Amino acid sequence: MAKKPLLEFTDKGIYCAQGKFYVDPWKPVDDAVITHAHADHAYFGHKHYLAHHLSREVLLYRLGPINLQTVEYGEKVMKNGVEISLFPAGHVIGSAQIRLEYKGEVWVVSGDYKTEDDGISTPFEPVKCHHFISECTFGMPVYQWKPQVQIFDDINNWWRTNLYNGVATVLVGYSLGKAQRILQNLDLSNGKVYTHGVIENTNEALRRNGVLLNPTERITADTPKEEVRKGIILAPPSSVGTPWMRKFGPYSFGYCSGWMAIRGAKRRRAADRGFVLSDHADWDGLISAIDATGCECVYLTHGYTATFTRYLNEIGFNAREVHTLYGGEEEDEATPQSSPGENEPIDNSQTNEVKVLSFGEDLGEAEASGGEI
Ligand SMILES: [Zn+2]
Ligand SMILES: [Zn+2]
Repeated sequence: MAKKPLLEFTDKGIYCAQGKFYVDPWKPVDDAVITHAHADHAYFGHKHYLAHHLSREVLLYRLGPINLQTVEYGEKVMKNGVEISLFPAGHVIGSAQIRLEYKGEVWVVSGDYKTEDDGISTPFEPVKCHHFISECTFGMPVYQWKPQVQIFDDINNWWRTNLYNGVATVLVGYSLGKAQRILQNLDLSNGKVYTHGVIENTNEALRRNGVLLNPTERITADTPKEEVRKGIILAPPSSVGTPWMRKFGPYSFGYCSGWMAIRGAKRRRAADRGFVLSDHADWDGLISAIDATGCECVYLTHGYTATFTRYLNEIGFNAREVHTLYGGEEEDEATPQSSPGENEPIDNSQTNEVKVLSFGEDLGEAEASGGEI
């Protein structure tokens, strides 16, 4: 009889029967190991959570009081003979790949990851394993990121132009990850950084966790519009098209997302500028990351799984498509649901089934993005 695999894909999430725990489960379980604090990975309702210590305050802010154990990268936790350790995923601050070892067999669950060093998240570290469960949000050749220094040059120049023209600058990116990455790479000699409450709450949680972020000022009802125009406004996807945003007019509105790489995305967001900036690996990043694990088998979740799985098998990997509920509502990085023919061919086979709960303020962001672009 064939040996039972260490990890199984169940209707609650990725399950380790030997250790009796789940990785990023989407239904309430007793024991959850969490890759990162985005809402499609860190759900409310588990009895026990294990995560990286830099996810701590954001998890508590988003989920309220939970029973949370945190560890450093590389620190080992044993559960019924299964050794669990976390390695940097480079996706957002505190994001981790989960390495599991039992009787010499090693599995790694990537969570979301990117291979470029964004200057704020601990950089992605390849981990050798036999079985690798990888996301592939941007698993299409059309997705090739430029180095972020080029993108931030564009952003800073656009900001300067707006200052010169006397219009406000509104830059949209999701509240955990993108907002902090932008904040740390803006040219602050241009002016001050003003933040929407959802972003500032996340910044405050990270600062409580000891993360050093550039200074920001929360926008309140009393913040003078003329002052805000001299700086830059960081706003979440949920604020697009709301009265909150309109009150800063006239403004130029920029949108940061990997989806900006495809035609039509900027227009559908009604953005003046689309900046191709993603916290997920691009096509080359995915392939190099998978290759670096030396794995015997790779399981693909999140995004263009069918296309990407087919391609990996063609070039000699042993790849399988697996069904999870990830990627449904991670704010603007949700899987696109575009009309056929308008963009590159898109595999929507997974997104139709995605129904993901959200909580607190992020509900607005998820709804606002809705997975469309
Ligand atoms: Zn994520
Ligand atoms: Zn995700």
